[in-house]
Amino acid sequence: MSAEVTLSALRKLPQVQRLIDNERTAALVAAHGRTPVLRALRTELDALRTALRTGATDAATPAEAIIAAAAGRLEREGVPVLRRVVNATGIVLHTNLGRAPLAPEAVAAVTAAAASYMNLEYDLDSGRRGSRYHGVTGLLCELTEAEAALVVNNNAAAVLLALAALASPGEAIVSRGELVEIGGSFRVPDVIAQSGARLVEVGTTNKTRATDYERAIGPDTRMLLKVHPSNYRIQGFTTTPSRRELVALADARGLIAMEDLGSGSLIDLAAHGLPAEPTVQEALRAGMHLVTCSGDKLLGGPQAGLILGRADLIARLKAHPLLRALRTDKLTLAALEATLKLYRAPERVAGGGPGHVPVLSMLAAPLPVLTEQAERLRGMLADLPGLTVELRDGDGFAGGGTLPEAAIPTRLVAIHCAAVGVSELARRLRAYRPAVVGFIRDDRLLFDLRTVADAELAEIAGACAAACRTRPAGEP
Ligand SMILES: *Cc1c(COP(=O)(O)O)cnc(C)c1O
Repeated sequence: MSAEVTLSALRKLPQVQRLIDNERTAALVAAHGRTPVLRALRTELDALRTALRTGATDAATPAEAIIAAAAGRLEREGVPVLRRVVNATGIVLHTNLGRAPLAPEAVAAVTAAAASYMNLEYDLDSGRRGSRYHGVTGLLCELTEAEAALVVNNNAAAVLLALAALASPGEAIVSRGELVEIGGSFRVPDVIAQSGARLVEVGTTNKTRATDYERAIGPDTRMLLKVHPSNYRIQGFTTTPSRRELVALADARGLIAMEDLGSGSLIDLAAHGLPAEPTVQEALRAGMHLVTCSGDKLLGGPQAGLILGRADLIARLKAHPLLRALRTDKLTLAALEATLKLYRAPERVAGGGPGHVPVLSMLAAPLPVLTEQAERLRGMLADLPGLTVELRDGDGFAGGGTLPEAAIPTRLVAIHCAAVGVSELARRLRAYRPAVVGFIRDDRLLFDLRTVADAELAEIAGACAAACRTRPAGEP
């Protein structure tokens, strides 16, 4: 292309001022504001100038096309980075997908707390300053019969605070079988080191006895720490002391017995046909002086760390300067209070109706219900051209370091699209709005509907229809 053609095409490009005054731009300015629209128009003009100079195009582009391109850019930029995902992995506590979805009651509480002022640290009776933790800690004590409680940002923070306030600069004794990494870089030895306490390892990977702890106790020992191994299990030739043995030893030697429970269920999961997990109440009844757990694992609430136990120990945690850095915000406290209130009617929390905690009702969803859902999705997908659909039996997992070896029987929908490879199919579903995330096995894309709400079935079907219809860029 000649230099004159390029020059003339460049000259024909409209001025940004003409574009912003164009009547088609008015709606864009109303929707996005003037500054972002100007920026988008300039970006499009710059791209066109570059394309003309490099010979990638030689035609003058009409103003309408430039405005349309800017509108597309603004639309793409407007999509939130954090957005909704249809979790069709079946993993209920999927840390990468945000762990526990909140109960409707908790969502309402967050919304109310977010939009207005509230009595976060204000006592409405006396008109004086109040305690930020008062509401949730009262509930926690009511539900677990703990003497006292405290809430921090997450369980990692709970363990860190307890070690810093109660064990540092002395020693905390931990079994070698419990020196675990939980994922997301929570490593028990590292957390202990950060707290300023010194880790003393006892026993072996598979066997640790009360006498191992006893022999390791020295003048600097402050704490016996028990840690839930969460995402792994040692099976076979194993021994660990009972909670009561550990507590008896701690009491006899004037030490603190603390347990990091990890998930921290408030109800007996075995009663709902699920593998047993130690409950917070169980650990406290066995005499543990302090128990910590997460708010957003089996409890099904917001991200938080709960600390329950002896009042004198909780008082020391409250007085520690780290607490200010680890404190929870009003949205978390509102969601946690509403979630905990649901446990006042524990018989309802794992059901599907009013008062349910979504994490628990999904875990407890019976196979016939999942089968019925899977059949409905198969029906919705049946007529999509080029797509084969079949039902399969499968094993689901709770996730989040919870119930790791416990496969929960489930029903899967497996799809295959001849024209689109399975990884491209998965990519297109992730790019859909809402994003749909399943998993790949045996050259099939699979959906486990345990984690899918009824209303989301149509969204999965819509995503599949779009994914099979459109061809990858560059193909005819
Ligand atoms: C998950 C887990 C943690 C970390 O809890 P967060 O709330 O994610 O900080 C700590 N300890 C154990 C045993 C866990 O399972």
